[in-house]
Amino acid sequence: MSDKPRSPIESGCPDAFQYMHPTMRRNFGQWKYHEHPKPGVLRHVAYSGEEIWTVRCGTQRILDIFTLRKLCDIGDEYGDGYIHFTIRSNVEYIVDDAAKVDPLIKAIEDAGFIVGGTKNSVTMISHTQGWLHCDIPGTDASGVVKSMMDELIDEFRENNMPNRVHITTSCCQINCGGQGDIAINVQHTKPPKINHDLVSNVCERPSVVARCPVAAIRPAMVNGKPSLEVDEKKCICCGACFPPCPPMQINDAEHTKLAIWVGGNHSNARSKPTFQKLVAAGIPNNPPRWPEANAIVKSILKAYKEDAKDWERINDWIERIGWPRFFEKTGLPFTKYHIDTWRGARNSLNASTHIRF
Ligand code: SF4
Ligand code: SF4
Repeated sequence: MSDKPRSPIESGCPDAFQYMHPTMRRNFGQWKYHEHPKPGVLRHVAYSGEEIWTVRCGTQRILDIFTLRKLCDIGDEYGDGYIHFTIRSNVEYIVDDAAKVDPLIKAIEDAGFIVGGTKNSVTMISHTQGWLHCDIPGTDASGVVKSMMDELIDEFRENNMPNRVHITTSCCQINCGGQGDIAINVQHTKPPKINHDLVSNVCERPSVVARCPVAAIRPAMVNGKPSLEVDEKKCICCGACFPPCPPMQINDAEHTKLAIWVGGNHSNARSKPTFQKLVAAGIPNNPPRWPEANAIVKSILKAYKEDAKDWERINDWIERIGWPRFFEKTGLPFTKYHIDTWRGARNSLNASTHIRF
């Protein structure tokens, strides 16, 4: 071993071309059309006449090395040795020969994985890191995802939805999460509890004070030690103070709940972005199978499947039928918690022209 320190490895996204299937690389930007021969399979045809077939397989996202090797071995043995992961944690095998597609699907399914997630399916839920990788989760996002996808497995395999359904999860109330047709997010319902003995050792008080979006935190002396206090009337229970100051514990077995939001969509060539809206709050954070949250997601999907027109995403469907009909069709109760009564809401509500600036 040399005594010389190893020079740093450049981090960042590597050049993707080196990992591309050669047929894909040769025809980059030269695709004539693509089609969807069956669930989980895509066929792209280039102007040169060459074609590639993509077989999509769901994964649990947080993959142990053995599963990853198994997935790669399938690609080496039955595919052309090229895979890539989609942003929703599906793995795609790419081959240039139609004859390889069925044996590849059989090998994937024999190994216990599922093929699907294309076109108008419920594709893999995009989930945040949870306890494995982050220091602030209020629940285990991967557990919620696992319990939900177990119940939605047929919707992943088939193409029975009016359009594609993207579901997302978030394991705290403030960070990653995401825009989704349906989003299952953590919802704290009580202000943080402060362990005053630890604050002065662990937290930079000015940065914690600055972190609060509603200015509810003030410096305070408690038992002769510098600490913090929370104006609980102002606090919106967001949990933003917990990451920089762990003694401000907000996670709680009873009061940390889940909330379900629907209708989030990024903009595309035809429409503007839409923001998701809360449809169910205070759902028990109930591991290991989260039955209450699962039942609500399934009732939303059932109503959407039965009532939406072809190609309507969930937000399009709700816009057409209106929110009262949405609550009627899904059987979800409309409660006072759906109304934004926070005193700052005046600035965010498009209630009338009088409060638009
Ligand atoms: S959603 Fe929150 S808790 Fe979960 S990984 Fe992201 S930052 Fe961490
Ligand atoms: S939970 Fe959010 S609103 Fe409440 S004190 Fe902490 S940062 Fe402020």
